Parts: sequence; structure tokens; C-alpha cells
Amino acid sequence: MSRFVFITGGVLSSLGKGITASSLGMLLKARGINVTIMKCDPYLNVDPGTMSPYQHGEVFVTEDGAETDLDLGHYERFIDTNLTRYNSITTGQIYSTVIAKERRGDYLGATVQVIPHITNCIKDSIIRVSNINDADVTIVEVGGTVGDIESLPYLEAIRQMRGDLGRDKVCYVHVTYIPYSKAIGEMKSKPTQHSVKEMRAIGLAPDLIVCRTARSLTKEVKDKISLFCDIDPEGVLEARDVDCLYEIPLEMERQGLAEGVLKKLKMQAPEPDLEQQKQIVKSFRSPHQEKVKIGLIGKYIKVADAYLSVIEALRHSSIGHNASLELIWVSSEQIERDGAEACLKHLDGVIVPGGFGDRGIEGKILGIQYCRENNLPFLGICLGMQCAVIEFARNVAEMKDAHSSEFVDSGEYPVISLMPDQSGVVKGGTMRLGAYPCRISENSIAASLYKSNLIYERHRHRFEVNNEFRARLSRKGLIISGTSPDQQLVEIVELKNHPFFVGCQFHPEFKSRPNRAHPLFAGLFAAALEKMQTRLS
Ligand code: GLN
Repeated sequence: MSRFVFITGGVLSSLGKGITASSLGMLLKARGINVTIMKCDPYLNVDPGTMSPYQHGEVFVTEDGAETDLDLGHYERFIDTNLTRYNSITTGQIYSTVIAKERRGDYLGATVQVIPHITNCIKDSIIRVSNINDADVTIVEVGGTVGDIESLPYLEAIRQMRGDLGRDKVCYVHVTYIPYSKAIGEMKSKPTQHSVKEMRAIGLAPDLIVCRTARSLTKEVKDKISLFCDIDPEGVLEARDVDCLYEIPLEMERQGLAEGVLKKLKMQAPEPDLEQQKQIVKSFRSPHQEKVKIGLIGKYIKVADAYLSVIEALRHSSIGHNASLELIWVSSEQIERDGAEACLKHLDGVIVPGGFGDRGIEGKILGIQYCRENNLPFLGICLGMQCAVIEFARNVAEMKDAHSSEFVDSGEYPVISLMPDQSGVVKGGTMRLGAYPCRISENSIAASLYKSNLIYERHRHRFEVNNEFRARLSRKGLIISGTSPDQQLVEIVELKNHPFFVGCQFHPEFKSRPNRAHPLFAGLFAAALEKMQTRLS
């Protein structure tokens, strides 16, 4: 039977509970412990697939096609394991399950209530994850903040699990915020005390507290938290703001996070092997004078989390190269206003990530045209690839006003469209989702990067390259270098006689890891690095 670590948050949202959970996962895995991590999201959406990235950041997609919270991306990158749809639950899913059971008559005779029916369903979901993964330790991150109405059923469920499983089988880690008052010149522990008081009121007491803070905690503040929150002094840890996420596990190790958890769970484990992690951090940290400037053309440029995995994958691609990444945000609407040259001419490479909706589309297309015509390395992902096909159709294959039927219904050249069997779909869980196989043609850029002719990549889209126009696009020089094994779906396009011009219908960013940059991102970075070197010489 697995042991369980529950991560809760207090005082503020967005404190880095996900990174704390991921770091702990990595530290346990580095000790040879089989670990899995799951997220409980207290909102009523069945999944975040229908939420705006402005609200929620990116939607992360698992190998088995679940649309999940972006924290699952952190988990996968930190513990280097593919997770499944079971690693993410939402209140919407829990209620749907319970209500479906009620309609089936599974609870015949009973009044169906939050306690015990909703809480039992939550507990079953948590146990299911640990069983499926045969985990020694299951880390469960409870979304939201202690004190929220929505979080209560989850907190009650994890409280009950202490009684169900025994005290030694569960550990509670509470992540809080320590504000610093400039006027008084002091750090303040009171919000943390109140948050713990709130937990106590519902029968939960943290074993460890991770304090997010801009400054180092003084001994006085640590002692105060220890005393008022009834925690061993060594159980109060600090999480300082850092510029490199991958440093956090090393810092947490120095402060004894994993040791504290193992002690509470009465588990023995060997010393961790963190050599690889140290190398990754060293590589991020090494001072490079020159920076490879990669522009990300998007419409959500004010919300970095909307492109979280893309940015992480770009960072991974800089590891191992003797240069650092300088990420430059380019608004597609600015390209529409000021022209592509003004926005892109100083860059070494460009990435156009996925997206929905027609705002800024023409700016993306203009940006891609600039990359194609000026030998600027380019990687287009999903909508970015679709825009590359539209651009090529319009400007090279003489298909005037070519478009995607997602944006323009009529028109002579819907080069991107729904497949015939897709008409009449509703929104929500109806996209092509998760991993699909892709065959790669020999002698292509894709083949040289993947070093394989069969790959699996994760998708999240409805529209596809329209087969009606494939022959014409190919004749004009668009290379279709990856397709579904039955050749019905275009998965990768590229151009010859260009330093790097690749578009993919899937989302490579979800599979990139700090120690294994995704081949397409590595390819873009290498080409951009070369461009930087010529720029400087
Ligand atoms: N909107 C496009 C589609 O649904 C692209 C989606 C995406 O980029 N994830 O096909």
C-alpha cells in the first residue's frame, strides 16, 4: 500500500505548490522510491480544456489524451514520467461520477451527500492513482487555497485518509507565503498562522510548512512559525524566489524536505543521486555573453503561463549548447500594425505556438512569411503549422486568400479544414487528443532530428491539413515529412533550401524534458545559434 503526501496551500494562490510537489517527487525518485503525483482541482469544469489560457494558463495534454492543469507538466518534467488522465481530477469530474451513479441507482435508498459520497469518490480517485502506478509514495496536490469553500471536500477527504490508513501513512505539507512589510521592516508570519488555524478547524495539522518568501527567513520568524503552528523547527522550510525552476529541488534537498517527509512516513531510503540535476542547473547558470534570441509570436503574450511548456522546452534546448536563450515576446497584433520586418529582423529564430480563434492570425502568417523569405529559423506548432501551410498556399502555391475553415467558412482554398468525419462536433473533449503515431519520411529534417521513422506525439486540435490541396502544395515545394501511418493526416511539414523551417500538427513541447530537449526544439535552437554566430561575425 502506498503512502501519501498531501500538499495544500495557504494565504495566496500561485505560491508554487505544483513545484513543491514536483520537487519532492524528484527527490524521492532520486532515492529509488517509486513515486507518482496527482492534482485535485476544485473547479466545476470537467477539465480545463474549455477554459481561457488567460484564466488558467496552458492546458497540458497527457499521453492518453487528458486535458489537464499545467502542473501536470511540471510533474512530468520533474519526475520524468508520463502521467495519465487519472493523475488529474476536478470537482466537475467527481460530481459527474457521483451523479451518474445516483442515476444508475447505485446508492439506492441513501440521501446522496458531500460527506460521504463526494469525499469517498475523491478518496477512491486518489487510491486508484496510487494503485495504477504501484506507487510507494503518492503525492497529492490539492488546488486552491485553504479557506476556499470549493476546497473543503478535498480537505475533508485527505483528513479522513489519515484515519483510514493510519498516521504513519500520511504526511501533510502546507505551502504558505511570508510577506515582508517595508514600512515596518519585518517579515510577517501572521497570515501563515491564520492559515494553519483554518486547517486545524477542519481537523488537519501540517507536518511541514514550506514558506514562499522573497527574502531569507530569519531564525526569529522560523521559531515563531514552529511555535504557533506546532511544527518541529526543522519542519519550517523556505522557498525563495529563483530564476531557474530546476534549482528548487536542490534547495529543498539542502533544507531537508524529503528527509522530513520520509521521517514522518517512517520510511528508510538511500542517499539521493542528484548529479544530473546539478548538471542541468549548472548549464542554466553558466554565464554566456551571447544570447540566442528566439521570438515567440502569440496573442496571449501578457500571460507567460499560456505557453509554459513551450517556454520550458525552449529552455531545455539551450542546455548543452554554449549559449543562453533570450526569449522575446512578439505580439501577432503588433506584426499586423508595424509589419514583420520591424518586429522580427533582430531575431535568430521564431516559434509560433498553438492557439485558437482568429485574433492575430494575419500577424502570425506575415511573421511566417518573413521567416520563410529571410532564412530565419522557424518552428510552427499546431496552429503555427497551420498558419505556415496557409502562408505557403497563398504566397507560393498561388492559392489566393487560402485559409483555415476554422476562421473563414467560405473561400476557394480551405487548406486547413475539418476532416469529413468531424462535422457537427461539440466543444469540450472532442478534439484529437493525446499521443498518435507519425511516420517520418527518409532524408527529411524531421528524420535527421528524431533519428527514427516512427514517433508518437501528443495532439490537441480539431483542424487538419486538407488532403484536397496536398498534391498542389507538394508540387510547389512544401515537403510533407510526417504523416499518420495511413497517410491520411499531415503531421509534419518542412521546407528545403532553408536553414530550418518546420511545422508540426502535434505539440512537441509536452514531451520535452530538462535532460532531453525535444528534437524539434533542439533543431530550432541549433539553427538559431548558427544564425546568432553569423550575426555576430
Ligand atoms: N485551432 C486549431 C485547431 O483546432 C489549432 C489548435 C492548437 O493549436 N492547439 O485545429
